[in-house]
Amino acid sequence: MTNVLISGASVAGPALAYWLRKHGFSPTVVERAPSLRTGGYKIDIRGAALEVVERMGLLEEVRRHSTDMQVARFVDAKGRQMATMSAQLFGGREGDDVEIMRGDLGAILYEATKNDVEYIFDDSITALDETADGVRVTFENGPDRTFDLVVGADGVHSNVRALAFGEESGFVHDLGHHISIFTVPNHLGLDRTEMMHPAPGRSAGMYSTRQSADAKAMFLFTSPADPYDRKDVDGQKKLLARTFADQGWDVPRLLDSMWDAPDFYFDSISQVRMDRWSSGRVVLVGDAAYGPSPASGQGTSLSLVGAYVLAGSLAAAAGDHTAGFAAYENDMRPFVEENQKLAEGNLKGMVLKSAGQIRFQMGMLRLMPHLPGKERMIKRVTEPIRKAATAITIRDY
Ligand SMILES: Cc1cc2nc3c(=O)[nH]c(=O)nc-3n(C[C@H](O)[C@H](O)[C@H](O)COP(=O)(O)OP(=O)(O)OC[C@H]3O[C@@H](n4cnc5c(N)ncnc54)[C@H](O)[C@@H]3O)c2cc1C
Repeated sequence: MTNVLISGASVAGPALAYWLRKHGFSPTVVERAPSLRTGGYKIDIRGAALEVVERMGLLEEVRRHSTDMQVARFVDAKGRQMATMSAQLFGGREGDDVEIMRGDLGAILYEATKNDVEYIFDDSITALDETADGVRVTFENGPDRTFDLVVGADGVHSNVRALAFGEESGFVHDLGHHISIFTVPNHLGLDRTEMMHPAPGRSAGMYSTRQSADAKAMFLFTSPADPYDRKDVDGQKKLLARTFADQGWDVPRLLDSMWDAPDFYFDSISQVRMDRWSSGRVVLVGDAAYGPSPASGQGTSLSLVGAYVLAGSLAAAAGDHTAGFAAYENDMRPFVEENQKLAEGNLKGMVLKSAGQIRFQMGMLRLMPHLPGKERMIKRVTEPIRKAATAITIRDY
């Protein structure tokens, strides 16, 4: 049986383990965190990814956990409502698309695999030595082991990618914005509602989903001019507090909650672009290989489809991993490129540059329900997302 080591137990890792197991491989997943990471934000599953989830027999379960968000409200510095939008349109969703908390999806995928797959928590790969018939893997904590193949499913700042392909600066492209998300008390009593306070170059928001007692704060802003230390969480919090210091609405209260937030997340909005996703017996899947950035709204869908195609391609190649990796890349690359294209356009609408642009956008949102061509305008928003999300045929392997 082919032994495959997968680094990362979020979305891509467990989904790949599921499909490898189905095809008769023996997967092991190593995760740096001490247990399954349950936190996170809401993410979308669309198009081809819905079909993959259905083939896993998990679509009903995923739908049961949908956020059921209803509305997005835009407010000014004094908290006065400027415009509203349906949550479906705000998230660029249509039809059967599902929105779910990332932690819930991770837990569903873990539950579906934990009895058949070996999971190792609280460990990380420190070295990969490829031999003629396998990869000798050194771990931070556990003993060395040899695997037939190694997969990096460890996100935008992938450890496996650094070990097998080199420094991330060559692959991770900052799209000019940063994002921060953390849990806050639901002091506004929001129920399946998203609030957004747009200001030039920065946008603050807060939302609470169906099954949530608390809320998430979200901050989007133009990337800071000065570099900062990616490992210095306190420095990042200070930077966020400085960037939003003079903002109205509920921003001061959200920033007050930040200091004690259990799950402070802060990163550039970046896209991973690589010429190839495999090197010898090592291959990448999900954000590690082709993270399209949170602005695309398609990271999770790409991960789910990528896991399905990688496992299927390896199975179809019957032991020839080089042919399997080539087929995976051949099928996935056009789909990835279509979805990566969405990010920069979306970002322009998410962080507006000037007060004039904000006034114009709010005016358009207020007018839209009354315009004769409103369906056409809505289609202009949703159609590119739908096209990209379905730009691959899900084969049978
Ligand atoms: C704010 C925000 C909003 C988003 N919104 C959306 C959205 O609306 N729609 C959407 O589709 N996507 C969205 N995404 C992206 C989505 O979360 C990811 O694209 C998707 O989860 C990709 O999963 P992944 O498994 O490839 O990587 P990740 O989810 O990043 O998981 C990587 C895993 O690897 C682990 N790991 C890291 N280093 C190591 C190591 N050295 N050893 C072992 N394990 C390691 C991590 O702990 C983690 O569990 C959003 C992301 C952000 C930040």
